[in-house]
This record gives sequence, C-alpha cells and structure tokens, in this order.
Amino acid sequence: MKKIGLIGGMSWESSLEYYRIINETVKQKLGGLHSAECIMYSVDFDEIEKLQHQGKWEDLTKIMIDCAQRLEKAGANVIIICTNTMHKMAGEVESSINIPLLHIADATAEKIKEKSFKKVGLLGTKFTMEEDFYKGRLIEKHDIEVIVPNSEEMQIVNDIIFDELCLGIIKETSKEQYKKIILNLAEKGAEGVILGCTEIPLLIKQEDVEVPLFDTTKIHAEFAVDYAIK
Ligand code: GLU
Repeated sequence: MKKIGLIGGMSWESSLEYYRIINETVKQKLGGLHSAECIMYSVDFDEIEKLQHQGKWEDLTKIMIDCAQRLEKAGANVIIICTNTMHKMAGEVESSINIPLLHIADATAEKIKEKSFKKVGLLGTKFTMEEDFYKGRLIEKHDIEVIVPNSEEMQIVNDIIFDELCLGIIKETSKEQYKKIILNLAEKGAEGVILGCTEIPLLIKQEDVEVPLFDTTKIHAEFAVDYAIK
C-alpha cells in the first residue's frame, strides 16, 4: 500500500471526513483490520483564511509547497490537498515535489464522465466558483460544461462555508438555502451538481435533493485509496 500524504486543516472539519473515508474505504477493499497508511500535515486555518481573503496567494503557494515537501520527506508516496480552493496552486505544488499529486477536479471529472453528464453546476467558495483554476480544468481537460449560481446565491454559498461549515455549525435554514440554489442550477440545465467545497457534504446529502450530487470529499478520498492500493 502506498502512503497517502494529506494536506489538511482547511478546515479540519473536512479533514476528519477525509481520514474517516480513506480508512473506511481501505477496510472495505482489503478487509479485516486493514487501515490506511497515511500522513497528514494539518495547517492552522485561521492563517490560511486570512491570507486567502487578503489575496496573498503567493504566500499561500509557499505554505502549500512547504506542506507537500514535508509530507514527501516524511515518506508519503502520493499527495492530496484536502480542499478544492487550494487547488488554485496545484500546478506549483505538483512541480515542487517528486511524487504525484492527485487533483480533486480530475477525480470528480471521472465520476461525472461515468454518468455521461455534459453540463454540471458547481458550488464552492467564491474563489472556486468565480475563478478559472477549477472550472477551467473541467472544461478544457475534461470537456465538461460548468455553470455557477448567480452572484447573490454565490455570496450565500460562500458565507455559509466560512461562517458556519468550517466552524462545524450545521443549520437547517442553510440547508434549505442550499437546496434552493441546487434546484435553480438544475433548472438552468445542470444534470448534476458538484459539491466543490469539502465541507458542503457536511450540510447537504444526496437524499436532500433529486439532482445527482458529486461529493468531492468522498470522491477525492476514494480516488486516493484506489491509487494507494492499485
Ligand atoms: N474546504 C473548502 C474547499 O474545499 C474551503 C476552505 C478553503 O478555503 O480552503 O474549498
């Protein structure tokens, strides 16, 4: 089994899910007392979130590279970044290490293609929904059309992530708001919706809506296990 290196703590609420899903998947695939060989470098999200909102992406890139290199030195054979947003600097991180980086959007694209969907909605932080690093990869590399909520809805989605989900706060009212936004994306032609922030699955589950959902936390964690035990 290859050792999985996780860059976590963004937020730790979702890193916990990664750790759980990775171990459950290994157990399910290998049976008995098997569990994942993994190493996590967990950052202080307060520092990360401040730098994100100050637009200090060069500093953030340095931090992510440092985390990845530490994991490689510690013996990781493969790296995953446990947040969609911080894939903004995935390219720089990838070229600073000698082990593979498994990109969350590639893992998600595989699942979308399995369903032969051509057009999907994307929910995530404003960085992920507005900028091109995530949507662009789905469009250019995987030929998947991506639509996002309108600006008012985007603000709601984003605020719930940072003010509630990253703090472990789950509110019924927020769930209802997300359900409505997901429905609107479906009405605009989305065949499925990407939960493109690793905390969103803490709030919204497949049973809450009819439109097929792509849970990036689960998809990415399982993808890493597939790679590790292949
Ligand atoms: N975990 C979130 C994501 O998947 C947001 C936290 C962050 O800003 O990195 O994008």
